[in-house]
Order: sequence, then C-alpha cells, then structure tokens
Amino acid sequence: MNMTKVAIIHSEEVPGSPANYTESHMLFVKSMIKEALDFLGGVKKFIREGDRVVIKLNVTGPVVPEQLSTTDPRVVEALINLIREEAGAKEITVVDCSAFAIDTELAFLGSGIALAVQRAGGKLFALEKDEYQEVEIPGAKVLRRVRLPRTIREADVLINVPKMKTHIYTTVTLALKNQHGYLLWGDKLRFHRTDLDQKLSDLYRAVKPDLAIVDGICAMQGQGPHSAYPEDLINDMNVIIAGTDCVAVDAVTSAVMGFDPLEVKTTRIAFSEGLGEADLSKIEVRGKKIQEVRRVFRRPDADPRGISPYLKVYVGAACIGCLGLIRGLVDAFTTPYVDLLGDISFVVGKNSELPSDIRGSVYVVGDCSEEHKEKGKFFPGCPPFLDLIKEFQDWDALGVPRQKQR
Ligand code: SF4
Repeated sequence: MNMTKVAIIHSEEVPGSPANYTESHMLFVKSMIKEALDFLGGVKKFIREGDRVVIKLNVTGPVVPEQLSTTDPRVVEALINLIREEAGAKEITVVDCSAFAIDTELAFLGSGIALAVQRAGGKLFALEKDEYQEVEIPGAKVLRRVRLPRTIREADVLINVPKMKTHIYTTVTLALKNQHGYLLWGDKLRFHRTDLDQKLSDLYRAVKPDLAIVDGICAMQGQGPHSAYPEDLINDMNVIIAGTDCVAVDAVTSAVMGFDPLEVKTTRIAFSEGLGEADLSKIEVRGKKIQEVRRVFRRPDADPRGISPYLKVYVGAACIGCLGLIRGLVDAFTTPYVDLLGDISFVVGKNSELPSDIRGSVYVVGDCSEEHKEKGKFFPGCPPFLDLIKEFQDWDALGVPRQKQR
C-alpha cells in the first residue's frame, strides 16, 4: 500500500537563533531541511529546473524574530538556497498577506524575513498587492467562493512553510491554517468564528501545496499565535517536519506537540471529508519517530472569564469569535491598564444576564449582544475584529509598560 509519508528531522541542538545567526548556522538548518526532503524523494522530485517556486511563510505581523510568531529567518534563507542549488529553480518568491490590516511589507521587515530573503537572492511579495480572482470551491461547506491571488494560482511549485505554534482559535496553526494567509483581509474576516475550522478545510480543497515544511526549530505553546508570555516560547524544539499531504503533516506535527491529531478540528474536518490522512497508523513517518521528539505543549485557552479580578465577562450564547478576540487582546494588554481604567466589563453573546449594578467601563462586544448596547460602548460585528483591536491599541497608547498575567 502506498502510504502518505511525513519526515521528522531532529537535532539535539540547532546553532544560532532566529534573530542572530551566521552563515554556518543557516547551513546547519539547510542540512536539516535537505534531510527531510531526501526522505520524501529529494528536492528534484518536487522542483524542476526553470520552475517558478512560491514559498508561503507565516508572517502575521512585524514581530521581531525572537518572539517566535513568524517563520524562522534561518529556515527561509536555508530553503531558498537549497532550492536554487539543488534544483535550479528560475524564480523563488516568498509571500504572505499578514493578519488583519497589517502591511505585509512592514511585517517582512520587522520579522527579519526581508533580510533573509535578500541574502539568499529570493524575491519578496506582499500578496495584498496581487491580482485576485474569485473562484468557486466545489464541495465547500462555508467558503463556497473565495478570491485567490494570481501568484498562488500560477505557481509551478507551492511550498507551505508554517511555524510550529498553538492558536487560541484553532488549537494549532500549522499547514492548513497557514493557508489563511492567501486571503485578503476582508476574506480573512469572513467565517472567523466557530466556522473557521471548516473554512480552512474548504480552502484546502482550492489550494493544495506541493510541499509543507513545518518550521519547528523554535516553537510556541499556550496562548499562540502571538503569546505575550515568555514561558510560551520554546527555543529548543529543534525539528523540521515535512510532507506533501497537509492533513498528514498537521496530524503528525500536532502529535509531536502532544495533541491527539483529531483534537485539532481543522485536521478532523479535513480528514473526515477525505482531503488527507490523519490516522497516524496510516502515515509512514520517516526519520525520527513521533515519540522520540514529542513534547506536551500547553493548551491555548480562548476563554477570557476568570483571568483577572478586575475583569468581568458576562457571557450569554457566544462563540469563540468574540470570546477568542477578547481573550487574545486581554492577554496582550493587561493588568496595568485595568488598574488605570478601573473595573472593566465585557458583555458577549445573546441573552447574557447582567447585574443591575454593572460598573466601570463596559464593552458590549459583537452583534449577538446588541440587546445590551445601551449599557456601554457597543462594538457591532461578527466578530468586531478591527474596532476592538483599535480600542485595545488606544489603551496601549497610554504608554504604560505591559505586565503579563495568566
Ligand atoms: S457576534 Fe455572536 S456569532 Fe458573531 S462572533 Fe460574536 S459571539 Fe460569535
């Protein structure tokens, strides 16, 4: 039987760091990626001379590399060099469209990706500047139509390079979630609730990368995808995981992170719809075994209730769209702000019960909570991403140093 193959490469130590590395450090990472691709048949199996190769990274924002939110610049530089030297690709373009309303070119600069790509002689391209075409996705359950960038549609070879991270909305953010970065901001906002997992599975029907290579040199656990907590940063994971089936790559990688692969809803949905393999007994793992490199990552928590005595959250019938949004923002902008601003209350979801003496600053979040809009500052939307992010950014503008709390 022809089993799906996934390669795991591990090193006890990987020299350098995402923010500070030399050529010899990069060459070490290159040898790890090469070894992974050799287990899958070698670089030339996927790339022919003269091909236009597109590499889709995870560059969600202008976050410094040591925050471990974005693909490691060592991996990017190493992969470009490997492809050019081994396969003679004609053009290697590194792309992303960063998270909501973030300028991807700034994100490339801030994350150290621009420098890595320049050093390796690749091209950089911010997908939001591309020509997008609307396509139908046959068989999709929620994302029936989507606009896709020309660069992705016309790539000879598409390589998906996610970062090994947890995510408060999707448990992990790996190959299937990384594809969300093809979408323009308006399409990112659509179906960004409990339906996000289905959306990502639908998107995989439309775009199937030729290769997925997970950057697990450093990793993030807990409150990803941009954890504010230093203990969530794992600087010595030291793995590269690669395969051609994104569902299988995600299943193996989440097992390496200490999850049951089917705990990850995107993987489970895509698997149940026959889009890839998530049964570990039917995946041929080459290189290291999962148990040899497995660690139990801290689970992400999307619920903002009970995390601070200053913070009251009144939840009715609400979903992860608003809850995860509040939790993610509170994680990033916490105690000093609450102290400064006094008690803060969030009202979320339909039919929430409120006390008669609700006090302090009241934020009524999302269309579902409209019935309480007179009780405080109302943020319409489903979920109200941009307006609530802007509100929290204004708190940050007070200039008070951040303090982290669980
Ligand atoms: S408005 Fe309601 S359905 Fe929409 S994201 Fe918020 S809680 Fe979910």
